[in-house]
Amino acid sequence: MASTQATGQILDGKAVSQQRLAELATVLQRLSAERATDEHPPKLVVVLVGDDPASQVYTRRKTTVAQEIGLESELITLPGNTTEADVLALIATLNADATVHGILVQLPLPRHINQQTVLHSVAPHKDVDGFHPYNLGCLLAGDDIPYQALPCTPAGMMSILKHYDIEIAGQHAVVIGRSTIVGKPMAQLLLAANATVTLCHSRTANLASHTQQADIVVAAVGQPNMVTASMLKPGAVVLDVGINRLPDGRLCGDVDFDSAKTVASYITPVPGGVGPMTIATLMENTVNLYQRSLGKK
Ligand code: NDP
Repeated sequence: MASTQATGQILDGKAVSQQRLAELATVLQRLSAERATDEHPPKLVVVLVGDDPASQVYTRRKTTVAQEIGLESELITLPGNTTEADVLALIATLNADATVHGILVQLPLPRHINQQTVLHSVAPHKDVDGFHPYNLGCLLAGDDIPYQALPCTPAGMMSILKHYDIEIAGQHAVVIGRSTIVGKPMAQLLLAANATVTLCHSRTANLASHTQQADIVVAAVGQPNMVTASMLKPGAVVLDVGINRLPDGRLCGDVDFDSAKTVASYITPVPGGVGPMTIATLMENTVNLYQRSLGKK
């Protein structure tokens, strides 16, 4: 259960994710040993369109981690001028390919490609990011249906709260940011775990008046160090999703870590907090989708 003392304990996403990945590697070994000769091994395909440097780093990391745990993966890189029709054709091929169990389209896509159209084209049962409206709808409805994958970043944050035995039920959670990939699903997961949830965004008046009342603060904005100690209630649990690059090349989150950790009871660092949990959850989702495709989960 969360401490009410301001100790600034680090929520070590790197360590927790490594533990999860080690567990997954064991599961994959077992699945491999049990696999019938006519069954395909679990496979994740990552699609990258264009040459955005940050996206290149993220996609390489995802396929590398997959290989490290014994999960087959493939990175398909398409040039930045690929047409939307060609991306959709590739996804249709992957949807129909029985050897592929998880499809991830790296965001953002080039501006001439409609992101929604592409995300909606991924078959819900291979939608390892949980961004298809069917899967998002199931999250909203609270349905525990087959084939559902939860969006990786919010699900990873819920896992880290669980790992540290941080109480959610009855707590007031304030989520800053309402994107479909982080803020909104995170608010929904916290609500499902019986928190009282406030969802803030760029039009929220007096943001600090909300965050100062929060037992749990999730910052998913994309603005370096915007959440400062004065915006936090002593003892708050702080989850920092932001990945921002400073002019000197260093990475920082949306939370001013040095000041916030003197007030928070628990806090995620950047890097080493939410990011590694996102990748571990992606691997978990792929293995789950594979098992579900076999009717084993
Ligand atoms: P988006 O840009 O899609 O959403 C940002 C949200 O922040 C919007 O809802 C926006 O409000 C809100 N916002 C902007 N300015 C303010 C403000 N001044 N006060 C309050 N709210 C504000 O970003 P994402 O959700 O995709 O990502 C957020 C951050 O998290 C980024 O830094 C991204 O790189 C990082 N990220 C990290 C991941 C990880 O694994 N660690 C995974 C995914 C993202 P409005 O809707 O009104 O515009």
